[in-house]
Amino acid sequence: MSLDTEFGGKSCHTTVPPIDQDQHAEDQPARAEAFPDRTNDADVGPPAQAEQPPRTDGASERQYPRPMLTMTPDELDQWLQARGEPRYRLRQVLHWIYQQPVESFEQMSDIPKSLRRDLHRAFRLWTTRVLERQQAEDGTEKLLLRLMDGETVECVLLRDDRGHRTACISTQVGCAMGCAFCASGLGGFKRNLAAYEILEQLLHLRRLLPPKERLTHIVVMGMGEPLANLKNLLAALEVATSPSGLGISGRRVTISTVGIPPAIDRLAETGKPYHLAISLHAPTDELRSRLVPSNQHTGIKAIMNAADRYFAKTGRRVTLEYVLIAGVNDRLEHAVALAELVKNRTAFVNVIAYNPVPELPYRSPSPARVQRFVDKLREAGVNARIRFRKGVSIEAGCGQLRRRFLAAKVQDNGARGKAQNGNSLGQVAAAPCDRPNGQDRPTDTAGQSPSA
Ligand code: SF4
Repeated sequence: MSLDTEFGGKSCHTTVPPIDQDQHAEDQPARAEAFPDRTNDADVGPPAQAEQPPRTDGASERQYPRPMLTMTPDELDQWLQARGEPRYRLRQVLHWIYQQPVESFEQMSDIPKSLRRDLHRAFRLWTTRVLERQQAEDGTEKLLLRLMDGETVECVLLRDDRGHRTACISTQVGCAMGCAFCASGLGGFKRNLAAYEILEQLLHLRRLLPPKERLTHIVVMGMGEPLANLKNLLAALEVATSPSGLGISGRRVTISTVGIPPAIDRLAETGKPYHLAISLHAPTDELRSRLVPSNQHTGIKAIMNAADRYFAKTGRRVTLEYVLIAGVNDRLEHAVALAELVKNRTAFVNVIAYNPVPELPYRSPSPARVQRFVDKLREAGVNARIRFRKGVSIEAGCGQLRRRFLAAKVQDNGARGKAQNGNSLGQVAAAPCDRPNGQDRPTDTAGQSPSA
Protein backbone atom coordinates (compact mmCIF):
# COMPACT_ATOMS: atom_id res chain seq x y z
CA MET A 1 0.00 0.00 0.00
CA SER A 2 1.47 3.31 -0.95
CA LEU A 3 1.81 5.98 1.64
CA ASP A 4 0.84 9.54 1.01
CA THR A 5 3.85 11.70 1.50
CA GLU A 6 2.54 14.97 0.22
CA PHE A 7 2.64 16.74 3.53
CA GLY A 8 4.27 16.04 6.80
CA GLY A 9 3.10 16.14 10.32
CA LYS A 10 3.81 18.29 13.27
CA SER A 11 2.98 17.41 16.75
CA CYS A 12 0.77 20.41 17.22
CA HIS A 13 -2.83 20.27 16.27
CA THR A 14 -1.28 17.78 14.48
CA THR A 15 0.33 18.84 11.76
CA VAL A 16 -0.20 18.14 8.43
CA PRO A 17 -2.17 20.08 6.10
CA PRO A 18 -5.06 17.79 5.39
CA ILE A 19 -5.50 19.03 1.87
CA ASP A 20 -7.34 16.38 -0.01
CA GLN A 21 -7.08 15.83 -3.70
CA ASP A 22 -10.76 16.34 -4.22
CA GLN A 23 -10.42 19.56 -2.31
CA HIS A 24 -8.03 20.79 -4.96
CA ALA A 25 -10.46 19.78 -7.63
CA GLU A 26 -12.96 22.06 -5.94
CA ASP A 27 -10.53 24.93 -5.85
CA GLN A 28 -11.81 27.99 -7.58
CA PRO A 29 -10.46 31.47 -7.98
CA ALA A 30 -11.17 33.56 -4.95
CA ARG A 31 -14.50 35.23 -5.59
CA ALA A 32 -14.61 37.55 -2.66
CA GLU A 33 -14.38 41.18 -3.42
CA ALA A 34 -11.37 42.90 -2.03
CA PHE A 35 -12.16 43.48 1.60
CA PRO A 36 -15.93 43.46 1.28
CA ASP A 37 -18.16 45.43 3.57
CA ARG A 38 -18.48 43.43 6.75
CA THR A 39 -20.82 45.64 8.65
CA ASN A 40 -23.29 42.81 9.08
CA ASP A 41 -20.71 40.38 10.34
CA ALA A 42 -20.00 41.42 13.86
CA ASP A 43 -17.46 38.68 14.37
CA VAL A 44 -15.38 39.42 11.34
CA GLY A 45 -13.89 42.84 11.65
CA PRO A 46 -11.15 44.20 9.43
CA PRO A 47 -7.68 44.04 10.92
CA ALA A 48 -7.90 47.58 12.17
CA GLN A 49 -10.88 46.68 14.35
CA ALA A 50 -9.56 43.36 15.55
CA GLU A 51 -8.10 42.83 18.96
CA GLN A 52 -4.63 44.30 19.35
CA PRO A 53 -1.91 42.94 21.59
CA PRO A 54 -1.38 44.91 24.77
CA ARG A 55 1.32 47.55 24.58
CA THR A 56 3.56 46.98 27.56
CA ASP A 57 6.25 49.51 26.89
CA GLY A 58 4.31 52.74 27.34
CA ALA A 59 5.54 53.95 23.96
CA SER A 60 3.70 56.77 22.26
CA GLU A 61 2.23 56.53 18.78
CA ARG A 62 4.89 58.99 17.70
CA GLN A 63 7.62 56.54 18.64
CA TYR A 64 5.81 53.55 17.18
CA PRO A 65 3.77 54.33 14.06
CA ARG A 66 0.68 52.36 13.27
CA PRO A 67 1.35 48.86 11.90
CA MET A 68 0.79 49.02 8.16
CA LEU A 69 -1.26 45.82 8.14
CA THR A 70 -3.91 47.33 10.39
CA MET A 71 -4.93 49.51 7.44
CA THR A 72 -7.66 48.15 5.20
CA PRO A 73 -7.22 48.95 1.49
CA ASP A 74 -10.13 51.40 1.81
CA GLU A 75 -8.37 53.23 4.61
CA LEU A 76 -5.09 53.20 2.75
CA ASP A 77 -6.88 54.49 -0.33
CA GLN A 78 -8.34 57.37 1.67
CA TRP A 79 -4.93 58.12 3.15
CA LEU A 80 -3.41 58.24 -0.33
CA GLN A 81 -6.27 60.32 -1.71
CA ALA A 82 -5.80 62.84 1.06
CA ARG A 83 -2.26 63.30 -0.27
CA GLY A 84 -3.50 63.83 -3.80
CA GLU A 85 -2.09 60.55 -5.09
CA PRO A 86 -3.51 59.04 -8.31
CA ARG A 87 -5.95 56.11 -7.96
CA TYR A 88 -3.44 53.55 -9.22
CA ARG A 89 -1.12 54.29 -6.31
CA LEU A 90 -3.14 52.03 -4.00
CA ARG A 91 -2.55 49.04 -6.26
CA GLN A 92 1.17 49.75 -6.34
CA VAL A 93 1.49 49.99 -2.56
CA LEU A 94 -0.60 46.86 -1.99
CA HIS A 95 1.62 45.00 -4.45
CA TRP A 96 4.72 45.78 -2.39
CA ILE A 97 3.00 44.80 0.83
CA TYR A 98 1.35 41.53 -0.20
CA GLN A 99 2.49 40.23 -3.58
CA GLN A 100 6.14 41.10 -3.35
CA PRO A 101 6.72 42.01 0.29
CA VAL A 102 9.69 44.33 0.67
CA GLU A 103 11.75 45.01 3.76
CA SER A 104 11.10 48.72 3.86
CA PHE A 105 9.04 51.45 2.21
CA GLU A 106 12.30 52.61 0.68
CA GLN A 107 12.31 49.50 -1.53
CA MET A 108 8.94 50.30 -3.11
CA SER A 109 10.74 51.29 -6.25
CA ASP A 110 7.86 52.64 -8.37
CA ILE A 111 6.53 54.87 -5.58
CA PRO A 112 7.69 58.52 -5.51
CA LYS A 113 10.37 59.14 -2.90
CA SER A 114 8.33 61.76 -1.06
CA LEU A 115 5.46 59.29 -0.64
CA ARG A 116 7.83 56.57 0.54
CA ARG A 117 9.07 58.99 3.19
CA ASP A 118 5.50 59.84 4.27
CA LEU A 119 4.63 56.16 4.49
CA HIS A 120 7.70 55.53 6.60
CA ARG A 121 6.72 58.32 8.99
CA ALA A 122 3.12 57.20 9.29
CA PHE A 123 3.37 53.43 9.37
CA ARG A 124 5.43 50.55 10.57
CA LEU A 125 5.76 48.09 7.70
CA TRP A 126 6.85 45.17 9.89
CA THR A 127 6.20 44.65 13.59
CA THR A 128 7.92 41.26 13.68
CA ARG A 129 11.40 40.19 12.73
CA VAL A 130 12.99 36.84 12.01
CA LEU A 131 15.11 35.60 14.91
CA GLU A 132 15.97 32.24 13.42
CA ARG A 133 15.46 30.44 10.14
CA GLN A 134 15.83 26.69 9.73
CA GLN A 135 15.66 24.65 6.54
CA ALA A 136 15.20 20.89 6.24
CA GLU A 137 16.42 18.71 3.40
CA ASP A 138 12.85 18.24 2.21
CA GLY A 139 12.51 21.99 1.63
CA THR A 140 10.52 22.71 4.77
CA GLU A 141 11.53 26.02 6.34
CA LYS A 142 10.74 27.24 9.79
CA LEU A 143 10.92 30.77 11.14
CA LEU A 144 11.04 31.94 14.71
CA LEU A 145 9.59 35.45 14.82
CA ARG A 146 10.01 38.04 17.50
CA LEU A 147 6.98 40.23 18.21
CA MET A 148 7.02 43.85 19.35
CA ASP A 149 6.58 42.90 23.01
CA GLY A 150 9.48 40.43 22.91
CA GLU A 151 7.31 37.29 22.67
CA THR A 152 8.10 34.73 20.00
CA VAL A 153 6.05 32.59 17.62
CA GLU A 154 6.83 30.03 14.93
CA CYS A 155 5.61 29.62 11.38
CA VAL A 156 6.52 27.04 8.75
CA LEU A 157 6.69 26.87 4.96
CA LEU A 158 6.03 23.43 3.46
CA ARG A 159 6.90 22.66 -0.15
CA ASP A 160 5.84 19.68 -2.21
CA ASP A 161 6.62 18.46 -5.70
CA ARG A 162 3.17 19.40 -6.99
CA GLY A 163 4.03 23.05 -6.57
CA HIS A 164 2.02 23.52 -3.41
CA ARG A 165 3.53 26.09 -1.07
CA THR A 166 1.80 25.84 2.26
CA ALA A 167 2.11 28.27 5.13
CA CYS A 168 1.54 26.85 8.59
CA ILE A 169 0.83 29.71 10.99
CA SER A 170 0.29 30.37 14.70
CA THR A 171 -2.62 32.24 16.26
CA GLN A 172 -1.51 32.61 19.87
CA VAL A 173 1.66 33.01 21.88
CA GLY A 174 1.71 29.74 23.80
CA CYS A 175 -1.47 27.77 24.24
CA ALA A 176 -3.96 27.23 27.04
CA MET A 177 -5.14 23.83 25.86
CA GLY A 178 -2.28 21.98 27.52
CA CYS A 179 -2.27 18.91 25.27
CA ALA A 180 -0.08 16.37 26.99
CA PHE A 181 2.14 15.67 23.98
CA CYS A 182 2.67 19.20 22.67
CA ALA A 183 5.63 21.53 23.05
CA SER A 184 3.53 24.66 22.50
CA GLY A 185 1.40 24.03 25.54
CA LEU A 186 4.36 23.49 27.86
CA GLY A 187 4.94 27.17 28.64
CA GLY A 188 1.25 27.98 29.02
CA PHE A 189 -0.76 30.70 27.31
CA LYS A 190 0.63 34.22 26.90
CA ARG A 191 -1.72 36.11 24.59
CA ASN A 192 -3.67 36.12 21.36
CA LEU A 193 -1.94 37.30 18.23
CA ALA A 194 -3.37 40.39 16.56
CA ALA A 195 -4.63 40.00 13.01
CA TYR A 196 -1.62 41.87 11.66
CA GLU A 197 0.74 39.52 13.52
CA ILE A 198 -0.99 36.53 11.94
CA LEU A 199 -0.73 38.18 8.53
CA GLU A 200 2.93 39.06 8.97
CA GLN A 201 3.74 35.36 9.38
CA LEU A 202 2.31 34.79 5.92
CA LEU A 203 4.33 37.66 4.49
CA HIS A 204 7.57 36.42 6.06
CA LEU A 205 6.93 32.98 4.55
CA ARG A 206 6.06 34.57 1.21
CA ARG A 207 9.47 36.24 1.27
CA LEU A 208 11.12 32.80 1.41
CA LEU A 209 9.74 32.03 -2.06
CA PRO A 210 11.19 33.26 -5.34
CA PRO A 211 9.16 36.06 -7.00
CA LYS A 212 7.51 33.69 -9.48
CA GLU A 213 6.15 31.41 -6.77
CA ARG A 214 3.41 32.23 -4.33
CA LEU A 215 1.76 30.76 -1.27
CA THR A 216 -0.96 28.37 -2.38
CA HIS A 217 -2.35 27.02 0.89
CA ILE A 218 -2.68 28.05 4.52
CA VAL A 219 -2.95 25.65 7.42
CA VAL A 220 -3.69 27.13 10.81
CA MET A 221 -1.94 24.43 12.78
CA GLY A 222 0.86 26.29 14.49
CA MET A 223 1.03 27.46 18.06
CA GLY A 224 -2.26 28.12 19.83
CA GLU A 225 -5.89 27.14 19.51
CA PRO A 226 -7.21 29.03 16.44
CA LEU A 227 -10.84 29.00 17.49
CA ALA A 228 -9.90 30.68 20.78
CA ASN A 229 -8.72 33.66 18.70
CA LEU A 230 -11.33 33.42 16.00
CA LYS A 231 -12.02 37.11 15.49
CA ASN A 232 -8.40 37.99 14.74
CA LEU A 233 -7.87 34.85 12.70
CA LEU A 234 -10.88 35.60 10.50
CA ALA A 235 -9.73 39.19 10.04
CA ALA A 236 -6.30 37.96 8.90
CA LEU A 237 -7.78 35.32 6.59
CA GLU A 238 -10.06 37.92 5.06
CA VAL A 239 -6.97 39.74 3.83
CA ALA A 240 -5.06 36.58 2.96
CA THR A 241 -7.88 35.37 0.72
CA SER A 242 -8.63 38.71 -0.87
CA PRO A 243 -7.36 39.43 -4.40
CA SER A 244 -6.03 42.71 -2.99
CA GLY A 245 -4.18 40.78 -0.33
CA LEU A 246 -2.44 37.46 -0.85
CA GLY A 247 -5.16 36.10 -3.12
CA ILE A 248 -5.15 32.58 -1.65
CA SER A 249 -8.37 30.67 -2.27
CA GLY A 250 -10.48 30.28 0.84
CA ARG A 251 -10.94 26.64 -0.14
CA ARG A 252 -7.24 26.17 0.41
CA VAL A 253 -7.35 27.30 4.00
CA THR A 254 -7.48 24.67 6.74
CA ILE A 255 -8.24 25.55 10.35
CA SER A 256 -7.31 22.95 12.92
CA THR A 257 -8.90 22.86 16.36
CA VAL A 258 -9.06 20.65 19.43
CA GLY A 259 -12.82 21.21 19.19
CA ILE A 260 -14.75 24.15 20.69
CA PRO A 261 -18.35 23.53 19.55
CA PRO A 262 -19.73 27.10 19.84
CA ALA A 263 -16.73 28.45 17.91
CA ILE A 264 -17.11 25.75 15.25
CA ASP A 265 -20.71 26.91 14.83
CA ARG A 266 -19.59 30.54 14.56
CA LEU A 267 -17.04 29.58 11.94
CA ALA A 268 -19.72 27.75 9.95
CA GLU A 269 -21.98 30.78 10.14
CA THR A 270 -19.41 33.03 8.47
CA GLY A 271 -20.15 31.23 5.19
CA LYS A 272 -16.44 30.95 4.44
CA PRO A 273 -15.31 27.83 2.60
CA TYR A 274 -12.54 27.04 5.05
CA HIS A 275 -11.65 23.43 5.66
CA LEU A 276 -12.05 22.27 9.27
CA ALA A 277 -9.69 19.75 10.88
CA ILE A 278 -10.38 18.42 14.35
CA SER A 279 -7.47 17.15 16.42
CA LEU A 280 -9.09 14.06 17.87
CA HIS A 281 -6.13 11.86 18.90
CA ALA A 282 -8.27 9.39 20.86
CA PRO A 283 -11.54 7.58 20.27
CA THR A 284 -12.81 7.63 23.87
CA ASP A 285 -13.41 10.47 26.32
CA GLU A 286 -11.34 8.73 28.97
CA LEU A 287 -8.21 8.61 26.81
CA ARG A 288 -8.80 11.91 25.03
CA SER A 289 -9.24 13.81 28.29
CA ARG A 290 -5.78 12.62 29.31
CA LEU A 291 -4.23 13.74 26.03
CA VAL A 292 -6.32 16.86 25.40
CA PRO A 293 -7.45 18.23 28.79
CA SER A 294 -10.06 20.57 27.30
CA ASN A 295 -11.99 17.44 26.38
CA GLN A 296 -13.06 17.07 30.00
CA HIS A 297 -15.41 20.01 29.54
CA THR A 298 -16.65 19.27 26.05
CA GLY A 299 -16.50 15.57 25.30
CA ILE A 300 -16.11 13.85 21.95
CA LYS A 301 -19.85 13.61 21.30
CA ALA A 302 -20.40 17.38 21.40
CA ILE A 303 -17.38 17.94 19.16
CA MET A 304 -18.48 15.38 16.59
CA ASN A 305 -21.99 16.88 16.59
CA ALA A 306 -20.45 20.29 15.90
CA ALA A 307 -18.40 18.74 13.09
CA ASP A 308 -21.59 17.30 11.62
CA ARG A 309 -23.22 20.73 11.74
CA TYR A 310 -20.15 22.25 10.07
CA PHE A 311 -20.44 19.77 7.23
CA ALA A 312 -24.19 20.33 6.91
CA LYS A 313 -23.72 24.09 6.75
CA THR A 314 -20.64 24.34 4.54
CA GLY A 315 -20.59 21.10 2.57
CA ARG A 316 -16.93 20.79 3.47
CA ARG A 317 -15.84 17.36 4.61
CA VAL A 318 -14.26 17.53 8.07
CA THR A 319 -10.88 15.94 8.66
CA LEU A 320 -10.09 14.16 11.91
CA GLU A 321 -6.44 14.34 12.89
CA TYR A 322 -5.06 11.44 14.87
CA VAL A 323 -1.49 11.67 16.14
CA LEU A 324 -0.34 8.16 16.85
CA ILE A 325 1.69 7.87 20.06
CA ALA A 326 3.49 4.62 20.83
CA GLY A 327 1.79 2.63 23.56
CA VAL A 328 -0.81 5.31 24.21
CA ASN A 329 -3.42 5.46 21.44
CA ASP A 330 -2.02 3.14 18.77
CA ARG A 331 -3.61 -0.20 19.60
CA LEU A 332 -5.96 -1.99 17.24
CA GLU A 333 -8.80 -1.60 19.72
CA HIS A 334 -8.31 2.17 19.38
CA ALA A 335 -8.62 1.86 15.61
CA VAL A 336 -11.83 -0.15 16.00
CA ALA A 337 -13.30 2.43 18.39
CA LEU A 338 -12.26 5.25 16.05
CA ALA A 339 -13.92 3.50 13.12
CA GLU A 340 -17.10 3.21 15.15
CA LEU A 341 -16.99 6.95 15.82
CA VAL A 342 -16.47 7.85 12.18
CA LYS A 343 -19.05 5.36 10.87
CA ASN A 344 -21.92 7.04 9.00
CA ARG A 345 -20.10 10.37 8.95
CA THR A 346 -18.65 12.28 6.02
CA ALA A 347 -15.21 12.60 7.51
CA PHE A 348 -11.67 11.76 6.69
CA VAL A 349 -8.99 10.51 9.08
CA ASN A 350 -5.37 11.64 8.88
CA VAL A 351 -3.02 9.45 10.87
CA ILE A 352 0.31 11.01 11.77
CA ALA A 353 3.12 9.39 13.70
CA TYR A 354 4.01 11.48 16.74
CA ASN A 355 6.89 13.91 16.41
CA PRO A 356 8.79 13.47 19.70
CA VAL A 357 9.45 16.46 21.95
CA PRO A 358 12.65 16.14 24.00
CA GLU A 359 11.05 17.22 27.31
CA LEU A 360 8.14 14.78 26.98
CA PRO A 361 8.05 11.02 27.51
CA TYR A 362 6.05 10.15 24.39
CA ARG A 363 7.52 8.27 21.45
CA SER A 364 6.63 7.63 17.85
CA PRO A 365 5.32 4.19 16.90
CA SER A 366 7.16 2.14 14.28
CA PRO A 367 6.12 2.59 10.62
CA ALA A 368 4.71 -0.97 10.65
CA ARG A 369 2.52 -0.15 13.62
CA VAL A 370 1.26 3.02 11.96
CA GLN A 371 0.42 1.04 8.83
CA ARG A 372 -1.39 -1.61 10.87
CA PHE A 373 -3.51 1.05 12.52
CA VAL A 374 -4.52 2.61 9.20
CA ASP A 375 -5.19 -0.80 7.64
CA LYS A 376 -7.59 -1.55 10.47
CA LEU A 377 -9.43 1.70 9.88
CA ARG A 378 -9.71 1.00 6.17
CA GLU A 379 -10.95 -2.54 6.81
CA ALA A 380 -13.78 -0.92 8.73
CA GLY A 381 -14.58 1.31 5.75
CA VAL A 382 -13.00 4.50 7.06
CA ASN A 383 -11.39 6.96 4.66
CA ALA A 384 -7.96 7.20 6.21
CA ARG A 385 -4.40 7.82 5.22
CA ILE A 386 -0.97 8.23 6.70
CA ARG A 387 0.69 11.59 6.62
CA PHE A 388 4.44 11.58 6.82
CA ARG A 389 6.08 14.21 8.94
CA LYS A 390 8.02 16.93 7.20
CA GLY A 391 10.86 18.99 8.51
CA VAL A 392 11.70 16.58 11.34
CA SER A 393 15.34 17.67 11.20
CA ILE A 394 14.36 21.27 11.96
CA GLU A 395 12.04 20.63 14.90
CA ALA A 396 9.01 21.32 12.72
CA GLY A 397 6.70 20.08 15.45
CA CYS A 398 5.09 23.27 16.65
CA GLY A 399 6.64 24.97 19.63
CA GLN A 400 9.92 23.07 19.64
CA LEU A 401 12.10 25.80 18.15
CA ARG A 402 10.54 28.38 20.45
CA ARG A 403 11.10 26.11 23.47
CA ARG A 404 14.75 25.78 22.60
CA PHE A 405 15.08 29.53 22.10
CA LEU A 406 13.45 30.27 25.44
CA ALA A 407 15.57 27.68 27.21
CA ALA A 408 18.71 29.22 25.73
CA LYS A 409 17.50 32.65 26.80
CA VAL A 410 16.93 31.42 30.35
CA GLN A 411 20.43 29.97 30.38
CA ASP A 412 21.86 33.13 28.93
CA ASN A 413 20.03 35.33 31.44
CA GLY A 414 21.13 33.00 34.20
CA ALA A 415 24.74 33.16 33.17
CA ARG A 416 24.55 36.95 32.97
CA GLY A 417 22.78 37.18 36.32
CA LYS A 418 25.41 34.96 37.83
CA ALA A 419 28.21 37.02 36.35
CA GLN A 420 26.65 40.30 37.51
CA ASN A 421 25.35 39.26 40.88
CA GLY A 422 27.16 36.11 41.71
CA ASN A 423 23.67 34.62 41.95
CA SER A 424 22.27 31.25 40.88
CA LEU A 425 20.06 30.16 37.97
CA GLY A 426 17.08 30.34 40.28
CA GLN A 427 17.06 34.08 39.78
CA VAL A 428 15.88 33.84 36.18
CA ALA A 429 12.58 32.20 37.01
CA ALA A 430 10.80 35.18 35.45
CA ALA A 431 12.13 34.51 31.95
CA PRO A 432 9.44 34.61 29.23
CA CYS A 433 8.64 30.94 29.28
CA ASP A 434 7.60 31.05 32.91
CA ARG A 435 5.70 34.29 33.16
CA PRO A 436 1.99 33.76 33.69
CA ASN A 437 -0.33 35.15 31.02
CA GLY A 438 2.09 37.47 29.41
CA GLN A 439 2.56 39.71 32.43
CA ASP A 440 5.83 41.46 33.01
CA ARG A 441 6.98 41.17 29.43
CA PRO A 442 10.29 42.55 28.32
CA THR A 443 9.98 46.06 26.97
CA ASP A 444 12.36 45.82 24.05
CA THR A 445 10.89 45.99 20.58
CA ALA A 446 11.34 44.42 17.22
CA GLY A 447 13.23 46.10 14.41
CA GLN A 448 11.55 47.88 11.54
CA SER A 449 12.30 45.26 8.98
CA PRO A 450 12.67 41.51 8.76
CA SER A 451 16.04 39.94 8.68
CA ALA A 452 15.03 37.10 6.41
S1 SF4 B 1 -1.50 22.47 23.29
FE1 SF4 B 1 -2.42 23.97 21.89
S2 SF4 B 1 -0.96 24.15 20.21
FE2 SF4 B 1 -0.50 22.22 21.27
S3 SF4 B 1 -1.71 20.63 20.21
FE3 SF4 B 1 -2.94 21.37 21.93
S4 SF4 B 1 -4.21 22.97 21.01
FE4 SF4 B 1 -2.49 22.64 19.56
